[in-house]
Amino acid sequence: MLKSIPRPLIFFRPLMSQMTPSSTATFTTTTQKPHIRGVVFDMDGTLTVPVIDFPAMYKAVLGDQQYLSIKSQYPSGIDILHLIETWDPLQQQKAYEIIADFERQGLDHLQIMPGATQLCGFLDSKNIRKGLITRNVKTSVDIFHLKFGMTFSPALSREFRPCKPDPAPLLHICSTWEVLPDEVIMIGDSLKDDVVCGKKAGAYTCLLDETGRYDSPEYASVEHKPDFTVSSLTEVQSLLETQFDLRP
Ligand SMILES: [Mg+2]
Repeated sequence: MLKSIPRPLIFFRPLMSQMTPSSTATFTTTTQKPHIRGVVFDMDGTLTVPVIDFPAMYKAVLGDQQYLSIKSQYPSGIDILHLIETWDPLQQQKAYEIIADFERQGLDHLQIMPGATQLCGFLDSKNIRKGLITRNVKTSVDIFHLKFGMTFSPALSREFRPCKPDPAPLLHICSTWEVLPDEVIMIGDSLKDDVVCGKKAGAYTCLLDETGRYDSPEYASVEHKPDFTVSSLTEVQSLLETQFDLRP
């Protein structure tokens, strides 16, 4: 049984519909802070600077016409891996090759996200567990680990099924760590994958929204909203320190 505790209404930044262009961080503190034992990160666009042109990749896989049609059905984002699963094996293989090609090009330009090294150093200094969940392939995760010298364990790639936004990978990490989902925070730049995965698992969620794109009204009525929104990873350390009790 998962522990269920009442969750305080705390926002690091007002969310979407509550946003104003000039709004700044708002804190509502509670007497007893929830504790956090682990932080789980998304990789592309969160720990690394976004380099994959996802709309171009979707167009290459789906064709212009089908891309536009599917995009209008799923305005908050296309789940390309899920779509492909229903295709026949030959089509599927071709699609995976196109995706892998975009991902390979992305690896050539891989850069660490500003603030990631400092944040991970801070978590290490507090002995807080660091995990990773990506819809990218294991090879990319291995290259990421080698290139930037940080360790995330477990680090689950898309070979672990089902992928985000299913909560399964996050629940697997919690079980490996022997912690409860509400002792974990999921940090990612995707509302439809990272936030949904985190919320469905019962974890805290932090959306990294560098450009404020999720302030758009089209996201105001989404079912799963993040507990926190930050515009850079450099904000996450103070978020963790002010809103949570960090426990190894
Ligand atoms: Mg991402």
